[in-house]
Amino acid sequence: MTGFARGDRAGVPWLGWTCGTCRFCTRGQENLCDNARFTGYTLDGGYAEYVTADARYCFRIPAGYDDIEAAPLLCAGLIGYRALAMAGGAKRLGLYGFGAAAHIAAQVARHGGQDVYAFTRPGDDTGQRFALSLGAVWAGGSEVRPPQALDAAIIFAPVGALVPAALSATAKGGVVICAGIHMSDIPAFPYALLWGERTLRSVANLTRRDGEAFFAIAAETRIRTSVRPYALADANVALADLREGRIEGAAVLTP
Ligand SMILES: [Zn+2]
Repeated sequence: MTGFARGDRAGVPWLGWTCGTCRFCTRGQENLCDNARFTGYTLDGGYAEYVTADARYCFRIPAGYDDIEAAPLLCAGLIGYRALAMAGGAKRLGLYGFGAAAHIAAQVARHGGQDVYAFTRPGDDTGQRFALSLGAVWAGGSEVRPPQALDAAIIFAPVGALVPAALSATAKGGVVICAGIHMSDIPAFPYALLWGERTLRSVANLTRRDGEAFFAIAAETRIRTSVRPYALADANVALADLREGRIEGAAVLTP
């Protein structure tokens, strides 16, 4: 094993193993590996008290974060970071769906000098206040146009109708990034929303390079994660609360 010593805290992310030989791995896109294995899905662990993991895919947890605070960095934090990288340093950055991923991405974006515009479910005043408390320059419902056109938007909510909404809030040359694994159908929209060299794309998984870059930032600036711990036996309660939007930030299962 390299990179870790006995007693080090190791973070085990979603991407647990890649083949290193497929056409995606060999061109630096191991996040798209045809043979990838994922923690808690095709690899045991994740929803468990003990886990074995391939050290090459694990990350060192920076000092200053306790275990529960660090947990969301490994999932929500990493996917949010890759989406943020796709936004290419956009000055005016919209985040649609202000949950676990967005609340971390907002802080990283702000650290990088970007202005965050947070879009929540219509009427979600609590969510909007939460976004402003984390440094967003503006917060409003997803049905509202922001005061200025965005340079990029990331959609974290699994709601297809947000795609035309985000495109119409985005300036020429801007990019709209879908960061969820699933999304409801995207409704038809006029080509004019895409015209002007706007780009629409998705983001999948992470590469180890993303993780290293992200944890370097987490070590440099203290990211505040909002967490609600649940006992491992209450995993289904946590999932139900998440589905119903009853969690601010991230749910964390503890063994
Ligand atoms: Zn591969």
